[in-house]
Amino acid sequence: MKIASSSRSTLLAAAVGLALLIAFPLAVTNPYYIHLLETIMIYAILLFGLDIVVGYTGQVSLGHAGLFGIGAYVCGIFVTKLGTPLLVTGIASIGITALFGAVLALPALRVTGPYLAMVTLAFGTIVQILINEMTFLTEGPLGIKLAKPLLLGHRLDEREFFWLVAVLLMASLIVVDRILRSQLGRAFEALRGSPIASDCMGVSVYRYKVYAFVISAGLAGLAGSLYAISEQYISPNTYNFELTVLFLLAIIMGGRKTRTGALLGATIIVMLPKLLDDIETFRYAAVALAVVVTIGAAVLLQRRKATLARVAIPVAGSVALAAVSFVLETMTDWRLSVFGVITLFVVYYLQDGIVGFVRAMFNLRGHARADAEAARDLPVVKDAVSAAGADAPPVMLDASGVLMQFGGLKALNNVDLKVARGTIHGLIGPNGSGKSTMMNVLTGIYVPTAGRIDFKGNTVIGRTSSSIALSGIARTFQNVQLFGEMTALQNVLVGLHHSFRSNLLDVALHTPRYNRENSASAAHAHALLQFVGLDTLAGEEARNLPYGKQRLLEIARALALSPQLLLLDEPAAGLTAPDIRELVGIVRKIREHGITVILIEHHMDVVMSICDTVTVLDFGQKIAEGRPADVQADPKVIEAYLGSAEVANA
Ligand code: ADP
Ligand code: MG
Repeated sequence: MKIASSSRSTLLAAAVGLALLIAFPLAVTNPYYIHLLETIMIYAILLFGLDIVVGYTGQVSLGHAGLFGIGAYVCGIFVTKLGTPLLVTGIASIGITALFGAVLALPALRVTGPYLAMVTLAFGTIVQILINEMTFLTEGPLGIKLAKPLLLGHRLDEREFFWLVAVLLMASLIVVDRILRSQLGRAFEALRGSPIASDCMGVSVYRYKVYAFVISAGLAGLAGSLYAISEQYISPNTYNFELTVLFLLAIIMGGRKTRTGALLGATIIVMLPKLLDDIETFRYAAVALAVVVTIGAAVLLQRRKATLARVAIPVAGSVALAAVSFVLETMTDWRLSVFGVITLFVVYYLQDGIVGFVRAMFNLRGHARADAEAARDLPVVKDAVSAAGADAPPVMLDASGVLMQFGGLKALNNVDLKVARGTIHGLIGPNGSGKSTMMNVLTGIYVPTAGRIDFKGNTVIGRTSSSIALSGIARTFQNVQLFGEMTALQNVLVGLHHSFRSNLLDVALHTPRYNRENSASAAHAHALLQFVGLDTLAGEEARNLPYGKQRLLEIARALALSPQLLLLDEPAAGLTAPDIRELVGIVRKIREHGITVILIEHHMDVVMSICDTVTVLDFGQKIAEGRPADVQADPKVIEAYLGSAEVANA
């Protein structure tokens, strides 16, 4: 039940935040400051969404200013042309912008990295041009003027609208936080860690990329419509390239994958230009920052919470900023330079943003770690590895005449492979003989040039990796493909993704169904970690685990799919002798649960001791098959491994 407690603390923080925000316009009457804070809140809503795409799924989007503009213009057009009430306008903004988010997701399905950045940039530009040109709807460059809206027959004043924005900010905060900590958030994060592994865990990269963009765009639409009402005037020039870069900068500076980072980032991008407008204020702010950071550093050092090297960077940075503020007056275009220097500083020294830096300095645990540790106290799951295969046909996998051609190279040349139910089937052969290619063909990563592959009587050819995975084939990878930034427990939870029935609404509202599934899957994942002996490392990020443990974690994650056929690609590679013994024990236990295993392995002692049948490949062709001892004695096999029969005999 402790799983809920860390999310309850978010709820508490949101309630306190909301109380403070509601009090703000009562304490501060200057409309300028109210408007400034309102803008920060609106940007923060957008940044929560942008962080889903940039921070979690790892896609670069330069199209978010465009989405923001669409939200603003939908609001403007609905209000001025149709006279819709506030609620309808808001829903229309969110809905229509979310549709455009799906459009923006299309290129993300085909390209990544700089190419995606270019395409999304083009999207933003096209939106701006369309807003400019479609004068019959948008009034073109003249822009649209808006009055403050009516809510239940009452016209909101400046302060009441501020409160509305505050409520929506906190609602977005809670909903986004819940989404990102649910199976949906894990799916987003998994496809950043390894798209191939996501697909092979039954989490469709295609679907979740689109989801991420749609949710992100919905938030951008909400922010856009609030912005239009807040400014009471919209014009195409606002939603330009600079704004999009500013949004990205906010995520980078604040820190990705944290809501606090988004709030901080929004504050920085709104306040910094204002501060820089006025050298006096900027100087005060810089000096104050330097003093606060220095005192903070001194306290940390005194309590030995940080090393000198760690606190030296922010102290030096803030003192330098204060010093620079005194010489700035002599320069003409100093604002941009300061902005640039601060950006460089953050990107260079604080790679996880300000929030990430502070977390590292204070050794704060993220919620992922806390959740992982809480999973230990959940009721113990007895049969974590489900007994499989009783209903399956005696021949689990039946492949015949499989041909896989890469250009002129036949990586698999007319290979037949029959795997009997409940056995461990070894697949061996020299390097480059086509073993991994066979696994890739079986799991839908490659589509074979020719041949037939049936799993439990149904063909797998032409199906997506995620659909094959869900039908009961799980695998590990020769080059470990874990979700590096996620904890060990979260990695296994991605494998359990198929066990969730909760939808977006369940997740946002934390319905009983979601709470039930959430703790059941956490307990199950923990039991699977126990099965491979990793339960004590549940809260550790996968990338920080020793290599041998990473391989075991991959097996636990694969078992989470409740597979009937498990493909292990060189699980013992790079392991120490005691680790290998442990692995052999685990593979045997897996077979005892009725799961059929195909094992690719170079350690002959492992193959000989646990395999029931062995198939040998050489240059893409099957050269031998049978019981391990017979295969080992086969002269063709010896020749393949040692070069020629003479060498073997000598
Ligand atoms: P191994 O038996 O060592 O696992 P692989 O199945 O990885 O061998 O590779 C078999 C052959 O297929 C190798 O010659 C490899 O270079 C080639 N190959 C594998 N994947 C590809 C690919 N995507 N494109 C071109 N060649 C490939
Ligand atoms: Mg291989």
